[in-house]
Amino acid sequence: VTDGSSAPLALVGARVVADHDVLDPGHVVVADGRIRSAGAGEPHEAVERVDLGRAWLLPGFVDPHVHGGGGGDFTRADPASHARAAAFHARHGTTSLVATTVSAGAAELRATVAALGGVVDRPSQGARVVGIHLEGPFLCESRRGAQDPAHLRPPDVGELERLADVSGGAVSLITLAPELPGATALIRRARQLGIVAAAGHTDATYAQMLAARDAGVAVVTHTYNGMRGLHHREPGALGAALDLGELTCEVIADLVHAHPAAIRLLVRAKGPHGVVLVTDAISAAGMPDGSHSLGGSQVEVVDGQARLPDSDTIAGSTVTMDAAVRNAVAHLPADMPQVSRMASGNAARLLGVDGDVGRGAPGLRADLVVLDDALAVTGTMVGGRWVHGPAPGSG
Ligand SMILES: [Zn+2]
Repeated sequence: VTDGSSAPLALVGARVVADHDVLDPGHVVVADGRIRSAGAGEPHEAVERVDLGRAWLLPGFVDPHVHGGGGGDFTRADPASHARAAAFHARHGTTSLVATTVSAGAAELRATVAALGGVVDRPSQGARVVGIHLEGPFLCESRRGAQDPAHLRPPDVGELERLADVSGGAVSLITLAPELPGATALIRRARQLGIVAAAGHTDATYAQMLAARDAGVAVVTHTYNGMRGLHHREPGALGAALDLGELTCEVIADLVHAHPAAIRLLVRAKGPHGVVLVTDAISAAGMPDGSHSLGGSQVEVVDGQARLPDSDTIAGSTVTMDAAVRNAVAHLPADMPQVSRMASGNAARLLGVDGDVGRGAPGLRADLVVLDDALAVTGTMVGGRWVHGPAPGSG
């Protein structure tokens, strides 16, 4: 499988979602796996055309926090399972994702990260895996959520270096609790290694978050979840997330992890450029209710909601990026270009891959998603190839 290198193709007649407006109708010309041009109306070039019949055409979704889906699981060392998850999420419009691990024993985590390193940036039949997100093991026990307490440990620069090494340099994001002893050194080392540091599963105070920001933390992992609530005398990690402009905030927009009003407050506080929609999806996403796994833990899924057995603790989600986008459109004070940035461009920027993906601009990869009037995915193109669809008329 290679990136598309066939004759140029023009996607026309679409509502093309651009940075700040919607080109209706607009077009995108794709050639050699990249976007060659985009604009209003019809392209001037005489190239093969696919009429999308007023469908929405957006940059493909970029999900920096996803553990699995469709029965495929990034939390284990199994390339076939990774491919399954990447293909599942492509059917839901994701074109780039960061494969996300959970806390595990050192040897097991190394094996998983080594296996994931082998699929990063490789062509596939699904979304491109653009990096690895280590969610743990350096997390706060009292804010651990579904992370296995047996595998939590204090920040260890040597362990991070070994993980980065066995991954072939593919670790791009690490979620840690910045109040733990040794966290500041770990954050600094992460930045030296080109790894974005995120605060999450944390009981940090506001002052500790200020120090974390100064050390280099740039992201708040699933804002609202895995942190203390907002208190007016001790704003904590949530208050820092809302208040500090340097922090980009993930949010799980499944309407289970956070109430629509809470997500609206976040978007009002940060602006649409400061919020990143993530799925936090686990292998059970897209699968029937019942018993599933997350890392070494068993989870029970009822009505699509994953929890630890006999517990109220939410254990990841079963949401997909297209559903998160539909929820955002339905509940947020944001237009389609703003929702698109929350689903694609902002994540690309925080990962440092915005010169390659996340926008529908010339020169970037032809990673695109076609949505119908109900915002259901009818086509997904990765690197100029339809990995899902094909969209109407292309076929
Ligand atoms: Zn997660």
